[in-house]
Amino acid sequence: MPSRPPKLNGKPRQAKQSNWSRRASRQSRGYGREHERIRAELLRDEPLCRECRKHGRVTAAVIADHVVPLAQGGSGERSNYQPLCRPCSDAKTAREAAAGRTKP
Ligand SMILES: [Zn+2]
Repeated sequence: MPSRPPKLNGKPRQAKQSNWSRRASRQSRGYGREHERIRAELLRDEPLCRECRKHGRVTAAVIADHVVPLAQGGSGERSNYQPLCRPCSDAKTAREAAAGRTKP
């Protein structure tokens, strides 16, 4: 027997369906045009990371963060937004994820 790589029955390998197409759109997850508008306003009015300012640091904010995450019932109102820099946003997201994992 010649050693040849096995053929795949002539069938094209079925591409795994990407999860992306099944994910809810940004719109339905609360990150639509309204979010973009509020984000732009927020970062214009308060361009420094709020979390860093609490610690006496001056860092440019790049993220409009939900103070109370939407998943936890937070509102999409501007009052529920705070400007954060990337590291602060990542840290907050990590804290929230950790808190979510310890839920019963
Ligand atoms: Zn920060």
